[in-house]
Amino acid sequence: MINPAVSVIKSDLPEKWQQILSDLITDPKELLQLLDLDPEKSPFSLHALQQFPLKVPRPFVELIEKSNWDDPLLRQIWPSKLEEHEQTGFVSDPLAESNYNPVAGLLHKYHGRVLLTAAPHCAIHCRYCFRRHFDYQSNSPSRQQWEAAFEYIHNDSSIDEVILSGGDPLALSNRQLFWLLEQIDQIPHITRLRIHSRLPIVIPQRINSDLLNCLGRFRQKVVLVIHCNHSHELTTEMAGNFHKLATNGVTVLNQSVLLKDVNDSASCLIELSKALFSHNVLPYYLHLPDRVSGTAHFYTDEAHARDLLNIMQARLPGYLVPHLVSEIQGEASKTRIM
Ligand code: SF4
Repeated sequence: MINPAVSVIKSDLPEKWQQILSDLITDPKELLQLLDLDPEKSPFSLHALQQFPLKVPRPFVELIEKSNWDDPLLRQIWPSKLEEHEQTGFVSDPLAESNYNPVAGLLHKYHGRVLLTAAPHCAIHCRYCFRRHFDYQSNSPSRQQWEAAFEYIHNDSSIDEVILSGGDPLALSNRQLFWLLEQIDQIPHITRLRIHSRLPIVIPQRINSDLLNCLGRFRQKVVLVIHCNHSHELTTEMAGNFHKLATNGVTVLNQSVLLKDVNDSASCLIELSKALFSHNVLPYYLHLPDRVSGTAHFYTDEAHARDLLNIMQARLPGYLVPHLVSEIQGEASKTRIM
């Protein structure tokens, strides 16, 4: 068994990525100023802000075009008046996740896999997030409570994959994260560990040597599923990071969400797939957005999504075309549309 926490943590001093994480932009006025945006034209909503606060790391803001209210990255983070439009069928828990929550911090929806809500927070607040109303308060177990989750996994040998999600698991400190990994490492029937994270995109400094060493020494096969929606989110630094992850044995895949007025054109999706591949990442899933209250303005319907995928299939090799999927409450897995 590895003992990563003891062997790779070098000091308790905050690392660069932690400094960035503790200095997020949360004040809309500061964002307006940094991006030279005209407040007169702002589609700002105080109600949306109060419901789901603004949170964005500075490296992500640097990728947003100044003076452009239509920037696709800005649209993903700005608390907009459009969030106030209630629409029938858009609810706070569209996947009924609370039905699959046998112990605090653990969701068991699909055969063979469990998801741990490893972190109660994210580095960024994506306005379309399907967990924007999730009760993280009741799903932030203490170490003692985590024991119940690990016991649950120990007692079910049909589970062979653990997924760390959140919130964002890479927003945890290395000490917390490596402790969780140690516990998972000690469960013999777990053969795969999957980490879902947007940190590699929004704070690329998170992929540092401590993390690489830890993941590289893990007994299970490790899959990192990053979350990138637009080619403008990718930088050269990230290409280096993803290469290092691959040389440490980590498989890196991407999932995107199809978002109206952000990435819902064939040219944008084709560009994203090509950019991901040139940054050492394979496109994996393109999700239809979930019907979450406050996010109807991001919704793109299935017919449009199918049209986009058809164009992608005609113009790209198969390995650059992600699977179009949606999550349907009560289904035994994600539903593959194409
Ligand atoms: S990083 Fe992921 S979990 Fe966090 S707000 Fe964005 S989509 Fe939601």
